[in-house]
Amino acid sequence: MDINEIHEKFSEYGRNAKEWQRKCLLLLPEIAKREVWKAKGFSCIYEYAGKLAGMSKGQVNDALYILKKIEDKPALMAVVEVKGINAVRPVVSIATSEDEKFWAEKAREMSRHTLETYVRDLRNEAAQQVRTGPKNENEIKVIPMQLSAKLAARLEKLKGDKNWEEIIEELVSSKEANNQHEISKPDPVRTNSKHIPAKISSYVWQRSHEQCEFPNCHKKAEHLHHTNRFSSDKIHDPDQIVALCKEHHDLAHRGLIENEDNITTTWKIRKEPDYTSLNWFVDRQVQLYRRN
Ligand SMILES: [Zn+2]
Repeated sequence: MDINEIHEKFSEYGRNAKEWQRKCLLLLPEIAKREVWKAKGFSCIYEYAGKLAGMSKGQVNDALYILKKIEDKPALMAVVEVKGINAVRPVVSIATSEDEKFWAEKAREMSRHTLETYVRDLRNEAAQQVRTGPKNENEIKVIPMQLSAKLAARLEKLKGDKNWEEIIEELVSSKEANNQHEISKPDPVRTNSKHIPAKISSYVWQRSHEQCEFPNCHKKAEHLHHTNRFSSDKIHDPDQIVALCKEHHDLAHRGLIENEDNITTTWKIRKEPDYTSLNWFVDRQVQLYRRN
């Protein structure tokens, strides 16, 4: 056998093994309920599943837990039959009988990692909404600071008879301008080539410190993403190229990022794409084209 044959065989057997394991897992709730293991002379369901299907106690408990959570959710159950229990794991604690179809659709089309990221971001936003109410630009936030008496005195002197808002605004703006200056931003490049010019890509990598630029994501960035979609506007603009992790890149192309054409600090996860946006249209076309 050459290595390709070995690989082909192994992959095929692996696929089959996974499929059979899925079938076994799906029978567990019934086995537990009707105590099939007892009728067949086993001491417990773990012994039964271990001896007959090579499952660990952890796998049995996990499968029973997840399947219990979705027993009244036929759409999610149907996903498990095709993709296994891991595919629905990220949504079992939020899906309800009312919205399980929505989650099933996501679980069907997203990878587990993308789905996890999507659910986490949506949750964070919901939690934020509860804590602060809807975002309001005029909202006042109090920031407690501990400064040495010496530094506090310098700051007060600098402030003079201005109010704090004004002086901090000045300080922050000048610091921001300085940072911008440190890594000088290259000019946008208009071209037919999809390839991002080295100057621009290295600027974006530096700006992002090679971390995903989605708010509060600390994963390593893996993709440079055109927020304006290069195929619709052939320009490489450093302000419209962001570094993203694999999952947020995937979510961006699913149209699930709000304010995508704005700076990343304003980005949020959308529950549904904006079907009227140009980016959504372009991404759909690209996907259809790739599929053909
Ligand atoms: Zn990310």
